[in-house]
Amino acid sequence: MEKVIDGRLMSEEIRAELKQSIKFEMIKPSIAVIQIGDNDASNSYIRAKEKACDEVGIYFRHFKYDLGTSELTVINKIKELNNDEYVNGIIVQLPLPEGYNEKRLINTIINSKDIDGLTDINTGRLISGRKTLIPCTALAVMEMLKRSNVEIESKHVVLVGRGKLTCKPLIQLFLNENATVTVCHSKTLELEKYTRDADILVSATGVNNIITKDMVKDGAVVIDVGVNYDTGKISGDVDFDNVIDKVSLITKTPGGVGPMTVTMLIKNAIYCYQNKKK
Ligand code: NAP
Repeated sequence: MEKVIDGRLMSEEIRAELKQSIKFEMIKPSIAVIQIGDNDASNSYIRAKEKACDEVGIYFRHFKYDLGTSELTVINKIKELNNDEYVNGIIVQLPLPEGYNEKRLINTIINSKDIDGLTDINTGRLISGRKTLIPCTALAVMEMLKRSNVEIESKHVVLVGRGKLTCKPLIQLFLNENATVTVCHSKTLELEKYTRDADILVSATGVNNIITKDMVKDGAVVIDVGVNYDTGKISGDVDFDNVIDKVSLITKTPGGVGPMTVTMLIKNAIYCYQNKKK
């Protein structure tokens, strides 16, 4: 059996489904990305989002502000986009340069257009079990497991990391599926004690090769969210070449969670678009 969950292939399939779902719409969905500064990684993530929008048939708008632009200028643009009936989703590209208030900017986005699922209200809705927009990387992890037919109920899920983009929302998403969830972080002692017991191990730290073969249970499912540039090429949290021998399923970096994250952003945008039409 193929052990690698191919995020690129899965993305292609889902994007084709999403494209089909809006094929007959006269007015296409539209998203807007707000960027401040010229961070290389952000530029590349934004290009990936634009390409995915083109593929599916979503109108993509990019507002790029020079470093030093006043926060008020950006807030006013977000408010304008909130009121623009032709814009279905708004993203403030993270990380923001120093000096900008991330919470304030994110929470200026109207909840119904928050396709990153990061406003305080949408975060609260997820925890209280209401239908809401969910952060794309967490959605990507769940979608990859479901499409690979991984059983989640009663399994022990170990999350390495407690960031707001992935592991925090995953705590709730896995609990919703009746998994038992353990959360580890940088202050966890003897990390391997927990990871070795994981049926499903999700790592989202950005620390290269933090997950080695001896830390993984035989037959586990391993999802590598981390992205690391230390070695001069993109790698993940997991020592893939050695860990693969032990697992039943694993993702690869690049070509794993990354493309699926962008695809889930498109899915969220279409959800907002269809919700508005109702
Ligand atoms: P974050 O908010 O900074 O979270 C990183 C987490 O890793 C923190 O909870 C931190 O613990 C934990 N951590 C750091 N060193 C650790 C260690 N030695 N042992 C155990 N835990 C450790 O970052 P993030 O936004 O969640 O992103 C995490 C990684 O995922 C990054 O590499 C990012 O580029 C990547 N990412 C990838 C995608 C994708 O689409 N593939 C999407 C989002 C993020 P503390 O809380 O104690 O500091």
